Amino acid sequence: MPRQTSILDPETPHQTAWPARVNGTHQTPLLDRCRRRVTYLRLSLTEACAMRCVYCRPRRHGVAMDRPLLSVHEIGQLVEHLTAHHGLRKVRLTGGDPTSRPDLTAIIERIAAVPGIEDLAMTTHGLTLAGHAAEYARAGLRRVNVSLDTLDRDRFEKMTGVDGLTNMLAGLEAAESAGLHPIRINTVVVRGRNDGDLADLARWSARRGWDIRFIELMPMGPLAAEWADRYVPEAEMRRSLGPIVRDWEPIDQGHDAARRYRVTFEDGSTTTLGFITPMSCNFCAACNRIRIASDATLYPCLMDRPGPSLLPALRPRFDAEAIDRLIETGLSNKRPEHPAQGHVAMVQLGG
Ligand code: SAM
Repeated sequence: MPRQTSILDPETPHQTAWPARVNGTHQTPLLDRCRRRVTYLRLSLTEACAMRCVYCRPRRHGVAMDRPLLSVHEIGQLVEHLTAHHGLRKVRLTGGDPTSRPDLTAIIERIAAVPGIEDLAMTTHGLTLAGHAAEYARAGLRRVNVSLDTLDRDRFEKMTGVDGLTNMLAGLEAAESAGLHPIRINTVVVRGRNDGDLADLARWSARRGWDIRFIELMPMGPLAAEWADRYVPEAEMRRSLGPIVRDWEPIDQGHDAARRYRVTFEDGSTTTLGFITPMSCNFCAACNRIRIASDATLYPCLMDRPGPSLLPALRPRFDAEAIDRLIETGLSNKRPEHPAQGHVAMVQLGG
């Protein structure tokens, strides 16, 4: 019988291209069942968020106060282990909103100090960045993605439940002054809500030198039932930008989730526009991520059912072998492509 290869098997073919020792430590890559190598962790720090985005947070979604949030120490041990032994290179903090955690600066400091972490980023609503961006940058945060769906104050409030456009724009300025670079804007496009705002957002972000990514609505969370009516595919988004864009030149996507284009506007100025297209053209073949929710549940994929909880391997003390077994179980169930329908709302595991 052919020998069964393991996801954490040092003798798998991928191992030939993998450094056997990094900083004197033996490494085995994390491979899912389709042999995609995981190097990127999206870590949700909390389900708490000041915003109530219509597509993200179910109306009655409360945050259970008795949920076991991972501590700074536990997060540090986990990231250290995955980096030293399994080739993790990149961490993105998400939520809920990561800025809802009072110990966020300590978390950033702890992860940034892990040898081998090459990129530490955060996705946030940006409402509090004006007061904290410099502190996060000093702690070791490299860059931020800020979610902004419209530049119209009333529409912003209707979509997010918060009159926060001014604060968010101030937060973006502060992030830039703090050297958090590049700044990326994430815009979820929802028919009947902000599908008429794309041209304004594209021109505005180009003027500021900030990358914008228009995101296709995913069938998960509060708009899942009316998804077919609310979803705007990339092709339609590009058509709506037609009147202001003269030329689209595709840029190689690599592991980036966004399909990116170098565009020339009608006035001759140029910029880069991105589209995140999980529904019309998924990027699953290049997926290099795993997700861990704030209660330590592993999600092999944003839209799939939850995987195992890592908590028993983190408490009462860190157990590296148990972590490896649980992650192996999770990755062995990662499908070639995401399912058609999400199982939880994005606020529960972080986008
Ligand atoms: N609170 C942070 C923020 O506002 O960016 C981080 C968490 S939020 C869940 C991460 C991203 O998921 C945001 O850009 C949000 O717009 C996006 N998102 C939430 N629900 C979505 C859905 N159903 N389809 C597509 N994107 C969604």
